[in-house]
Amino acid sequence: MENQKVTMDKIESLAKRRGFIYRGSEIYGGLAGTWDYGPLGVALKKNIKDLWWKRFVEDRSDMYGVDAAILMSSKVWEAAGHVATFTDPMVECEKCKKRFRADHLSPDGKTDFSWVCSECGHSNGLFEPRQFNMMFKTSIGAVEDSSSIAYLRPETAQGMFVNFKNVVDSFHPRLPFGMGQIGKAFRNEITPRDFVFRTREFEQMEIEYFVKPSEWEEHFELWRKEMHQWMEDIGLRKENIHELEVADEDLAHYSKRTIDFEFDFPFGKKELYGLAYRTDFDLTSHQKESTVSLEYIDEAEKTKYIPHVVEPTFGLDRTILAVLCTSYHEEDVEGETRAVLRLPKQLAPIKVAILPLSKKEELSAVARPIFDTLKKDFVVSYDETQSIGKRYRRQDEIGTPYCITVDFETLNDKAVTVRDRDTMKQERIAIEKLPEYLKEKFQ
Ligand code: ATP
Repeated sequence: MENQKVTMDKIESLAKRRGFIYRGSEIYGGLAGTWDYGPLGVALKKNIKDLWWKRFVEDRSDMYGVDAAILMSSKVWEAAGHVATFTDPMVECEKCKKRFRADHLSPDGKTDFSWVCSECGHSNGLFEPRQFNMMFKTSIGAVEDSSSIAYLRPETAQGMFVNFKNVVDSFHPRLPFGMGQIGKAFRNEITPRDFVFRTREFEQMEIEYFVKPSEWEEHFELWRKEMHQWMEDIGLRKENIHELEVADEDLAHYSKRTIDFEFDFPFGKKELYGLAYRTDFDLTSHQKESTVSLEYIDEAEKTKYIPHVVEPTFGLDRTILAVLCTSYHEEDVEGETRAVLRLPKQLAPIKVAILPLSKKEELSAVARPIFDTLKKDFVVSYDETQSIGKRYRRQDEIGTPYCITVDFETLNDKAVTVRDRDTMKQERIAIEKLPEYLKEKFQ
């Protein structure tokens, strides 16, 4: 019997207990809006990033990867409009002074009603939101004055726009082509919440796809399909994904059209990814501010123009959360609850666990060489502590697709038991056939 009830408590507790994600600065009481990825979290994150990079950058001849600096000239953010408009509306409780996102209290934008503070229960009257700029400010160099101001980037996108000319000059790509980047972004969120869903430091995987102005709609549709395919391939269920056509009045300052891809998280239907048509807003603004020409020379048509941009953006931390929520299952197995992460095999942090039945030297003498052989092709873990039942439970909870048990029979038949995470079926496989057997399973 399967129980599909996934709660944030279960996900957070598993993530912490098994070493995926910890609270940032935990021994000092935590730092709001920050989370640290532990050994298995790093591995899961890396697998997602590698898959994304391979699919959207390496496997495509029209894509160019970059890794731009997090600190950028403050002029970038003035030109991009973030200094003036990268704000969220904020209100403060009259009594406890805790601050809230006004648009979370009033999704339809109305301010003429009272609201109850979720922190202290005080009933506040009508409110006039203040605009709060979400960029983290810092200063560069030894002297702090207005000329030393810098911002931690609130999106990775601008790192690509400012390198547009560099990539064109180095590679002479023909339109349409794109740039891709994976990296950290920082936003001083008023109310970070829901685990890694809304944090102050997070990672984005973004693409800026440059197109002929007249062809943006066609490319928008192509990327829309690509994004759905990606979500399917990382195991998200179709029925949990919902497209939201962002209304004109809610569009970001740079966008003419945006679709949010929402996901059914345990705390509600919320934005997972976005697809925006950014027009020529960014390149035109940077051309103006920098006075460097960012026009593209169309050799075929003998014209010059600023390309338009379609931007698919993928939050990495939200991806991890969606993947964890989708993979988590509880089942009743012989009267006990088995918690299992049914991660797509490609994403599993550990692919194979080697579990000798006992710590006795005669078994490790056989099990160690199996580990050494398999580690050439797979991420393998070696675990000989506690009972075999507890070890299976641990591997199920971290999503390891295959467990290999080395027992005393192995000494005679030179074979091991391979247990499948999802079916719990066990097969006896000859040690010498293991690498081939597993390679086939991971295809
Ligand atoms: P929201 O409306 O939830 O604040 P947004 O529309 O401001 O998100 P974008 O500016 O489109 O988000 O950012 C692109 C992607 O980056 C989002 O789709 C999301 O996956 C991710 N993202 C944005 N803000 C955060 C955050 N504070 N914490 C974690 N991921 C985030």
